[in-house]
Amino acid sequence: MGHDLHEKISILSGAAKYDASCATSGSSGFNGKGGKKFGATLPMGVCHSWTQDGRCVSLLKVLYSNVCKYDCAYCVNRASADVKRTSFTVEELAELTSEFYRRNYIEGLFLSSGIFADPDIVMEKLTETAKTLRTERGFGGYIHLKLIPGTGEKMIREAGKWADRLSVNIELPTEKSLQCLAPEKSKKAIIGAMNDFSGISCETDESNRKQKFLSGGKTSSSFFAPAGQSTQLIVGATSEDDRQIINLTNSLYNKFSLKRVYYSAFIHPGSYAQKDSRFDPRLPETATPPLVREHRLYQADWLLRFYHFSAQEILSQDEPFLDTHIDPKTAWALKNLDFFPIEINRADYETLLRIPGIGAKTARRIIETRRSRNLTIENLHRIGATLKRARYFLTAGGAYIEKPDDPVRIRRLLSDSDGAGLQLPLFEF
Ligand code: SF4
Repeated sequence: MGHDLHEKISILSGAAKYDASCATSGSSGFNGKGGKKFGATLPMGVCHSWTQDGRCVSLLKVLYSNVCKYDCAYCVNRASADVKRTSFTVEELAELTSEFYRRNYIEGLFLSSGIFADPDIVMEKLTETAKTLRTERGFGGYIHLKLIPGTGEKMIREAGKWADRLSVNIELPTEKSLQCLAPEKSKKAIIGAMNDFSGISCETDESNRKQKFLSGGKTSSSFFAPAGQSTQLIVGATSEDDRQIINLTNSLYNKFSLKRVYYSAFIHPGSYAQKDSRFDPRLPETATPPLVREHRLYQADWLLRFYHFSAQEILSQDEPFLDTHIDPKTAWALKNLDFFPIEINRADYETLLRIPGIGAKTARRIIETRRSRNLTIENLHRIGATLKRARYFLTAGGAYIEKPDDPVRIRRLLSDSDGAGLQLPLFEF
């Protein structure tokens, strides 16, 4: 391709930036906790991601190639875009990754690619890179590979031998939207890859269980992407409402045991592909990415996964969009005031989780603490409840902090429509 390695990494890390399933690129100056800027001194392509327990890790986030036969309207790498094209070789990428790893710049690799050939051939290159890292470079770091829709079951099985996580992007909420913006992709191929992953994963777990039982725990387990699968969905490029998105998310979690669904606010490719300012009439003329909507979807997703809400409780046919002014848990509480107040000295864990301002950790602490004594409002503050929100929805020993007499006023007081006070979602990787 005539590009030296430095230029390749510059092009291929820039081209990988917009995949949300690996958090924010360090090179864009991500604001970490306390406003501290991460990444200013990190090499190109290194991004930060978060583990389930909140640990921040650095990953090299790149494409194998930005050459793509497909022409997805929302993508900077689409076939018709006027951008510089290049590809790594397996050796180059393995060398670069292990060098970054040796120097402690990164703890892992996030690798995706444009579709420069048949899905199996593209996937073979990603898999070979992971295999070379593991078998020839002694790479013990984390590896996340993108699954190319249309990849056969055999190749998925091989990829999972070397990667910790695989993910196939669902991209858009409906087949109709896919046909409009990404006509070469199909829901069937995307769901098929998720389904294959699930099947292989269950089969591996089952066989490992049997082996362990038969050998009295002496045989080693087979390896297949132990960190599971995830996906990414673009929000705001098409007309689907939040209800369709949350229903889809819910069914993906249930059917395929996905670890995470990542939401990515639509960024118009014209706004970052400087050489290609053509505006596609199929895309909305949105000037700014719908970031508050993205945040609300992450919060609703949190309700599904950790707070045991059903999709139907979060959104209904009459109200198909999340309230952008308040978080979905508070929105639900204000619509269901007859469920409250909740007496914190008696309520079970599930009921405590319904109180705005009380998270899973605080709910567990409440249950623990009240084993030895009755809780007061002062105790609640100390064990982590956010009383600004919780105050209207609970009693301690029968006493309210403040009665929710005026839901409209409470909604106004708890509003954070500008995004202030919104917590960044914890990105697992
Ligand atoms: S398949 Fe679509 S989304 Fe993926 S790189 Fe090609 S144009 Fe972009």
